[in-house]
Amino acid sequence: MRTSIKRTRQCQVCGERKSEIDLIHGDHIREVLKPTIRTDFPNWDDNGFICLKDLNQYRTRHIQEVFETERGEVSELEAKVFRNIREQEVLANDTNQKFDQSLTIGARIADRVAEVGGSWTFIIGFLCCL
Ligand SMILES: [Zn+2]
Repeated sequence: MRTSIKRTRQCQVCGERKSEIDLIHGDHIREVLKPTIRTDFPNWDDNGFICLKDLNQYRTRHIQEVFETERGEVSELEAKVFRNIREQEVLANDTNQKFDQSLTIGARIADRVAEVGGSWTFIIGFLCCL
């Protein structure tokens, strides 16, 4: 009989037990990130795990620190991007949907005509008629 065991481990940062799929082993984390993590969790160990959610928070924080160090400041837009990444919000809206909503009736009809006129069914049918 085959058994399915979902193995869980504890994240050293948030302390939650999570599936191994959602965790990264300390050995696989970039060395440049480790000091940032140890700022908040001095006992954080390379032999332990960190969840993806927490790791992404530290990645974002590290990138922001690099920006601040190299450029001396972070623009308002960059700060907003970092904040949105931390809060895991969508940065880009569905531009196709907005574009479709902005089309006029004439443009929609032209799109439909081009779609039908450019289809293989129409082309083959047209050739057969000739
Ligand atoms: Zn965690």
